[in-house]
Amino acid sequence: MNKWLLGIAAALTVVILVISGILIYRNGIYDIEISVSKTGLRVGEDAEITAKAVGRYNGKTHELKPDIDGLYDNSRIGEYSITVKGSYKRAEKTETYTIKVFDDIAPQITLQTKEGHYTLPGLQYEEEGFTASDNYDGDLTDKVVRTETADKVTYTVTDSSGNKTEVTREIVYSDPVAPVITMMGEREVTQERKYPYHDAGATAFDNYDGDLTDRIVTEGEVDVTTIGDYTISYSVADSSGNIGTANRIIHIIERTKPIGEEEEAKGKVIYLTFDDGPSGYTQKLLDVLDKYNVKVTFFVCNNGLDSMIVEEAKRGHTIGVHGWTHDYKKLYTTKEGFYDSFYKMQDRIFELTGIRTNLLRFPGGSSNAVSRNYCKGIMTELTKDVTEKGIYFFDWNVLSGDSEAQPISTEQVYKNVINGITALKGKPAVVLQHDIKNFSVNAVEDIIKWGLANGYTFLPLDETSYGAHQRLNN
Ligand SMILES: [Zn+2]
Repeated sequence: MNKWLLGIAAALTVVILVISGILIYRNGIYDIEISVSKTGLRVGEDAEITAKAVGRYNGKTHELKPDIDGLYDNSRIGEYSITVKGSYKRAEKTETYTIKVFDDIAPQITLQTKEGHYTLPGLQYEEEGFTASDNYDGDLTDKVVRTETADKVTYTVTDSSGNKTEVTREIVYSDPVAPVITMMGEREVTQERKYPYHDAGATAFDNYDGDLTDRIVTEGEVDVTTIGDYTISYSVADSSGNIGTANRIIHIIERTKPIGEEEEAKGKVIYLTFDDGPSGYTQKLLDVLDKYNVKVTFFVCNNGLDSMIVEEAKRGHTIGVHGWTHDYKKLYTTKEGFYDSFYKMQDRIFELTGIRTNLLRFPGGSSNAVSRNYCKGIMTELTKDVTEKGIYFFDWNVLSGDSEAQPISTEQVYKNVINGITALKGKPAVVLQHDIKNFSVNAVEDIIKWGLANGYTFLPLDETSYGAHQRLNN
C-alpha cells in the first residue's frame, strides 16, 4: 500500500518535472526591455526625459521601476550620457543613451526706424539702427553683417549653433525738403514812379540738388508808370518736385521831381517815340510792343485812322499831339496857326480816348530851321509859350534816320538807334521813329530785344519825363 502510493507520487513528480522542462524550454527566460522618452532636448525646454523598463516572461509583461544614472543640463547645449537599468530578481538589463541638448531656434534681428527718416535719392542710406538677439547666445548685434545694395540693406547673423537669420530693409528714397530761395536786395522795395525797376534777383539752394539759381522762375511785373504795390515771386523746383518760393513787394510811389539827365545814374531808360502816325503799319507795331510788354509814345496826326489811336490808348501807350496838320507853312507862319492845329488834334484825341493830353512834339522838332522860312523866331516864342500853358514838349536825342528822303534799310534803322542809345552812355534815350515807315516799324522788335538784353527799361513819356530838348535854331 505504501509502496503503491509512493510509486504514484514519484510518477507525478516526473510528469511535473517533464512538463515544467517543456514549458521553460518553449517560453524562454525572463526578458527586460528598456526605453527613454526622448534622446534630444531643445535647450531651455522645460521637459524631462523619462525611462521605462518592462519585464516580460511567458508572454506576460509588467512594469519595472528603472534606475537612471547620469545628469543632463537642459540649459546648456551638449551631449550627455545616461544609463538606465531595469532589474527583476536576478534578471537585469542596462542601456546607455546619449542625450543631445540642442538649439534650433534662429536669432532675431530687430530693425529700428526713426520718425521722419529719409534717404536722398542716389545717396547712401544712413543706418537707423538694429539689434540682434538669440535665445541661447544672447545679444548678437556685433555679429550682424550688413550688406547695402541699390535699394535695400540686408542684415544677416548666425548663432553658435549655425542657425542663420536674414532680414531686409527697403531703403525709402525721398527728398521732402524744398529748395531755399534767398532774395538779393531788400524784401520790400519802394521807389518813385518811372525810375526803371531792376530786380536784384535771387539765389536758390537745395539740400540735394545744390545750386538751383539758374532754374528760378520769376513771375510778376512792375509797372513803373503806375502807382501801386507789385509782387515779384520767385519759385524753383528741385529734382524731387519740392517747390521753394519767395516774394518781393515793390511799392511804386509818386515822383517828387521830373526825370532828367541828372538822373542818369538811376538806370538806363529808352523812350521809343513814333511820329506822324497812325498808319497801316501801326497795328503791326502795337502787336510787337505787346509781345514784349513795352509801352511807347505816339505823337499822332489827323490821318483818319481814328481806330488806331483808340487802340494805342487801350494798350497803355502814351498819346501826344504832333498836329492836326504837318504842313510847316500852316504851323509856323503864326502862333494861332500852330495852336489851331494843336488844339484840334488834342480835342480829337480826347474824343477818341477820353484822355486830354498835354504832351507835344513839334513837327520838325523844336530845333527845326524850316520855320525860318515862315516866321523868324517862332520856335523860340512857341517853346516858351507852350510851357507857360502847361504843355510839355519833347524832342529826341536818338535819331533813327527813318525820315530821310531816301528810305534806308531796317538794318540801318536798328544800327542808328542802338548806336545812338549807346553813345548816350546811360542817359535817358528819347528815340525818334515814324510809324508811317514800314522799314522803321520792322526794326522795332530787334531794338527792343537789344535794349532788354542790355539792361534798358522801355518807358512811355509823361509830364515828368526827360524832354531831350534840342538847341533852338529859330
Ligand atoms: Zn513829323
